[in-house]
Amino acid sequence: MSTNLLDLNKLFINGEWVQAESGETFNVYNPATAEVVSPVPNGGDKEARLAVDAAHEAFRTWSQATAYERSTYIKKWHDIILEHKEEVAQVLVDEQGKPMTEALGEVNYAVSFLAWYAEEAKRIYGETIPASAIDKRIIILKQPVGVVAAITPWNFPAAMITRKIAPALAAGCTVVIKPAEQTPLTAIKLAELAEKAGLPKGVINVVTGDAKKIGQAWLEDERVAKITFTGSTEVGKLLMRGAADTVKKVSLELGGHAPVIVFGDADLDKAVEGVIVSKFRNAGQTCVCANRIYVEKSIVPQFTAKLREEVAKIKVGAGNEPEANIGPLINEQAYEKVQAHIDDAVEKGASIELGGKRIAAYDKGFFFEPTILSGVREDMVIMQEETFGPVAPIIEFDDVEDVIKKANSSRYGLAAYAYTENLKTAITVYEKLEFGIVGINDGLPSTAQAPFGGIKESGLGREGGHHGLDDFLEVKYVSIKL
Ligand code: ADP
Repeated sequence: MSTNLLDLNKLFINGEWVQAESGETFNVYNPATAEVVSPVPNGGDKEARLAVDAAHEAFRTWSQATAYERSTYIKKWHDIILEHKEEVAQVLVDEQGKPMTEALGEVNYAVSFLAWYAEEAKRIYGETIPASAIDKRIIILKQPVGVVAAITPWNFPAAMITRKIAPALAAGCTVVIKPAEQTPLTAIKLAELAEKAGLPKGVINVVTGDAKKIGQAWLEDERVAKITFTGSTEVGKLLMRGAADTVKKVSLELGGHAPVIVFGDADLDKAVEGVIVSKFRNAGQTCVCANRIYVEKSIVPQFTAKLREEVAKIKVGAGNEPEANIGPLINEQAYEKVQAHIDDAVEKGASIELGGKRIAAYDKGFFFEPTILSGVREDMVIMQEETFGPVAPIIEFDDVEDVIKKANSSRYGLAAYAYTENLKTAITVYEKLEFGIVGINDGLPSTAQAPFGGIKESGLGREGGHHGLDDFLEVKYVSIKL
């Protein structure tokens, strides 16, 4: 194991560190070196059920603790993660491939959810509603839904866990977590730190292993009240269908296909900076990454030149290279998709302004050149599908209504961005864009206190902010006749 930072690489069930009953393991690889980082237990339905047993039992006491007690635990976990910030970041570097600066950024982002929900736990207010009869009273309680199953992706292995778990714990729920098979070690590290923070046994459980078996066991289990998932639209739909039999609550953060609209009156420096942060962060592997960059015809040459100049400064490298701004793609499949999108665009007439291929200097790992394509048209695959890689396609437009229509013509509706210095244009655009998140002159809207989430096939529910608590709470109406 290259990190030597994980004391444990086991399943965490009911406060115990255990192996899969079969004794089987699977390997986690470093995307930068293709080396094995660590074997991890290959859990299945048996382990998934044991985790629910533990979470279900722990729910009895955790849901009855005061909000102040829960808040204290969440805050403690937050503090302990920060004390071990470099270790967590190193695990992220080793299994996800992102450079240390991005990894440290992710740890800060991850703990911001714990900090915020440690406070919000204390503000889960009920209501009273005026009754229509003198002898009646209407009282509304908010109560935790129960055991929550969280299934998380590999692009933000720490933040996607805390964004789900912090509000769940604040609400009084207990959780079973299945991290992505590419990045389970961060989840295990976070669980280790939760144990150090003294979280009661069974409140958090981590099961690594066979996604289908674990997912199916949780879908079938009546004791699991809610599934919260971040990942592909395809798997999201599968989980939503599977949740129907036991009528579970479902929160889904799925794919995106974010448009950026740069108007002729935009502050060019701001627009280029925003496009870079939204497009190239995490090597383009975020669901809110800019995927279609519509630029008003009058400024296409200036915008393209400036973008080229700034993107050329991005340093791609392995996590342990201090200069690196972005790392490799997660695996070969990811690389093939990115390359296929570029090849298809070029075949159909797009030009490569910068980059366009895998970086030959690395014989292992899927490092890809930050790429800019110009002359992109709607019929190219890159305009239909999420690329999940460092490729910025530029499309010209010259009509506001038309560009809004094009931006909206997607089955996805997660994030969209617009750059303009004109207030009226900004308002028109943010009102008409059919997306859950709109950044106006802002390429990085994600933050703990705001509701993150998509519409259409990008998902259901919101994570972050006080809205992020709603899906973990049941509303109970009490009617009293005096
Ligand atoms: P990606 O294609 O980006 O890897 P996925 O949707 O496949 O996205 O993965 C996101 C998470 O969903 C991962 O933790 C993965 O293991 C899990 N997953 C994949 N398939 C299933 C399934 N059939 N049931 C439950 N979880 C699944």
